Amino acid sequence: MRPRTPAEPHGAVVTALPLPAAAWSRDTDVVVVGTGAAGLMTAVALADAGRAVTVVTKAALGDGSTAWAQGGLAAVLGSDDDVELHVDDTLVAGAGLCDEDAVRTLVEEAPAAVALLQELGARLDLAGDGHPALTREGGHSRDRIVHAGGDASGAEVTRTLAGALRARGIEVLEHTAALDARRSADGRVVGLRTARIAGDSALVDHGELRSRAVVLATGGYGQVYAAASAPAGTTGDGLALALRAGAEVADVEMVQFHPTVLWTGPGAEGQQTLISEAVRGEGAVLVDGSGRRIMVGAHPLAELAPRDVVSATIAAHLAATGEQHVWLDATALGADFLARRFPGILRACREAGFDLGREPVPVAPAAHYTCGGVLADLDGRTSVTGLYAVGEVACTGVHGANRLASNSITEGLVAARRCAALLAAELPVSAAPGATGRPAGAVAAAARATVTAAMTRDAGVLRNAEGLRRLAATLADVPRLRTGRPLDVPALEATALHTVATLVGAAASARTESRGAHRRTDAPATRDEWEVRLVHRLDDAGRLHTRTLPVRVPETARGAA
Ligand SMILES: Cc1cc2nc3c(=O)[nH]c(=O)nc-3n(C[C@H](O)[C@H](O)[C@H](O)COP(=O)(O)OP(=O)(O)OC[C@H]3O[C@@H](n4cnc5c(N)ncnc54)[C@H](O)[C@@H]3O)c2cc1C
Repeated sequence: MRPRTPAEPHGAVVTALPLPAAAWSRDTDVVVVGTGAAGLMTAVALADAGRAVTVVTKAALGDGSTAWAQGGLAAVLGSDDDVELHVDDTLVAGAGLCDEDAVRTLVEEAPAAVALLQELGARLDLAGDGHPALTREGGHSRDRIVHAGGDASGAEVTRTLAGALRARGIEVLEHTAALDARRSADGRVVGLRTARIAGDSALVDHGELRSRAVVLATGGYGQVYAAASAPAGTTGDGLALALRAGAEVADVEMVQFHPTVLWTGPGAEGQQTLISEAVRGEGAVLVDGSGRRIMVGAHPLAELAPRDVVSATIAAHLAATGEQHVWLDATALGADFLARRFPGILRACREAGFDLGREPVPVAPAAHYTCGGVLADLDGRTSVTGLYAVGEVACTGVHGANRLASNSITEGLVAARRCAALLAAELPVSAAPGATGRPAGAVAAAARATVTAAMTRDAGVLRNAEGLRRLAATLADVPRLRTGRPLDVPALEATALHTVATLVGAAASARTESRGAHRRTDAPATRDEWEVRLVHRLDDAGRLHTRTLPVRVPETARGAA
């Protein structure tokens, strides 16, 4: 049986932002958007290849999810490890939706990406023999996670790459928002509309960077939920921009919820404190209000079961009992050990009023990593000429239906290097910008809370058809930006979140099965006919169109190619 793509109508999303005329324009070879691991590495590698690069970021240099990463980077470096094992672990986590070629490329090139980080000055935690110390996380069959500063791996990656960027004198426009792509008459991306962000979040100094390539490295969309581990700016701007530019997006329903995010109260909103899986790896356990271990009997690996299993088990427990959180008990590890191994986590818990070393702390699942994104290969190529996507904004097929822990920064670095090499070898031909699209459908800032509440209620860890129908109705009805009212950052982000939510809702209601991070209580089985990816594009009226993409190219087709 062929899987059916969405039959239900989903509300229209924005097709072009309402923007004033650009007050300036200038030329560069490549615009890179974002200064997390993926954007920084792309810019550094492009500059080393002699390309003129302009980097745009809506916050300060280095802000983004990367800086918050605790665990580290996965790479085959141990003497007992090999490429096949890392490939297998990634495929198992991906639950049938990984692109095996992309996974293999990632795994093969990961050690070189880690080595380059070290060459650029990254101070990784080292073992006694002077090589990077390796640890293990859930789903990995070997120790292969390199880390820095104990639990400050992302901060060290950011420090290193931001330093390399500065050392090369690369132009960075901080506090500058990427708004919409500029396209040629034949639909190629030939530049980017930007605006500086003023202190009051107004968008000022609107301009246009004309370039031969635009590389999106804008991160994920975790903030489409009320509580997320990612920072407040992780609002899916790049995904929405790419969709408006005509690009296809894929796997958006595959949102990884981290099982152990510190629970600080019923209405907690925005970025929450993550308590790394490594804490459970060291022996911390999950218990309910009566002290019973909830993962025992739920999975043979108990607390170290894959993230989707742990999150779904907690979510089902909370739904059944009416409790709002479970407890993470790390007291058996001892306060001294925790202070040495997880200094940042201990500090963050203390700041929220909890002492991880001396008492069980309340935790609940929260949105963490978004496997879906702009359909791209590991060289960053999207379905639109001139538009590239690397890092969490991209969907390369590496993560499938569920990301293996610590594969994402590695993926960002590998894709960044490959994308830079591609653009160093050849840039797309230049073209004049065509007419801009007619703006329609931007969403008012006030819609953000409505969108995130509806996503949390109806498209969280556990979903079903009724909730997804309610979500679609809510999203179709959100307040739109009044005509003539200027777009500011809150409205820009609310508009992106509305687009993302509509996409996730459409994909989640279409996929009538449970697989990886996507769990339907009304369709709990994994079904063979759904071993396909859902790919979406936008039409001029703001309606989504969905097609299925086979995961495996049949041998016959390979032979014919
Ligand atoms: C708390 C936490 C812990 C994690 N731990 C790990 C881990 O241990 N290992 C691992 O592999 N992964 C981990 N992850 C996931 C990983 O950190 C991210 O997937 C990865 O860092 C994403 O990198 P990126 O460069 O693609 O995007 P980001 O680092 O998120 O950077 C995005 C950039 O885009 C900019 N941007 C966004 N929108 C716009 C716009 N409209 N205009 C201009 N600029 C814009 C942002 O300001 C930012 O600079 C963790 C994530 C979180 C949140």
